[in-house]
Amino acid sequence: MRMRPTLSWTPAGDLPPATTDLEPVTDALRTGGVLVLSGAGISTESGIPDYRGEGGSLSRHTPMTYQDFTADARARRRYWARSHLGWRTFGRARPNAGHQAVAAFGRQGLLSGVITQNVDGLHQAAGSEDVVELHGTLTRVICLSCGAFSPRHELALRLEEANPAFEPVAAGINPDGDADLTDDQVGGFRVVPCTACGGTLKPDVVFFGETVPPQRVEHCRELVRAATSVLVLGSSLTVMSGLRFVRQAAKEGKPVLIVNRDQTRGDQHALTRVSLPLGTALGTVAHRLGIAWPSPRPAGVSHPSGP
Ligand SMILES: [Zn+2]
Repeated sequence: MRMRPTLSWTPAGDLPPATTDLEPVTDALRTGGVLVLSGAGISTESGIPDYRGEGGSLSRHTPMTYQDFTADARARRRYWARSHLGWRTFGRARPNAGHQAVAAFGRQGLLSGVITQNVDGLHQAAGSEDVVELHGTLTRVICLSCGAFSPRHELALRLEEANPAFEPVAAGINPDGDADLTDDQVGGFRVVPCTACGGTLKPDVVFFGETVPPQRVEHCRELVRAATSVLVLGSSLTVMSGLRFVRQAAKEGKPVLIVNRDQTRGDQHALTRVSLPLGTALGTVAHRLGIAWPSPRPAGVSHPSGP
């Protein structure tokens, strides 16, 4: 169950001190079998803001809930207007050094898997394979009536055609990919239905108040069981959907290593928490492991979900 996010929580137990020492992380990767669990913090260097970091969007924005989205046509219009505007930014976002390092670790056979709480598709854009998208992806749309999946970029084109005069200036964008707009700005936005059945379209993401599909959770649990260690990258682990895997790893006696600027809800289970920017930290680790860095990306290759 993905809970409504809270702005604060109370740390409990003995917490490892924040450090800048990357040796434990380097050692874990050298050993191999590392399961990566990533959160919004890995994408901030790609220009996608975190909910909770400095200037985090929770202070001015409440994420859409599944209940609001399904029950209220006005809420859907508001969602799609904001999401459509936000997509122009999301669709242009490119993987950063952190995503590229994770992809490089994968190519070297050091990882047993990648689970991400992000819906931005940037791990895959960097070349990571078999990424489990815990909360789904903004790059795909599902019809709530017939269950058909379709690419987001196709919907973006249809929404452009249906709303040729929609050019509001957003106050900001948030990690779920929607922009901050006033009710006035949303007013005349036209939502389009499923092309197959006329049903209601929803991004294929797990909204707040919605449950992560059980088979996806079980797949993640198996990944934890099969892993040698768990490496948390850029997540405060505030929501249970990610924290439970850290708890599972701790219960199974597996080292949990965290790279996150701020304290996390999983610190009490961690061997170490490294407080460094992710791109810098993972670049350093890759260098120590003798992995070519930065891994070059061919020019002209764009985000596969881009418009
Ligand atoms: Zn349909």
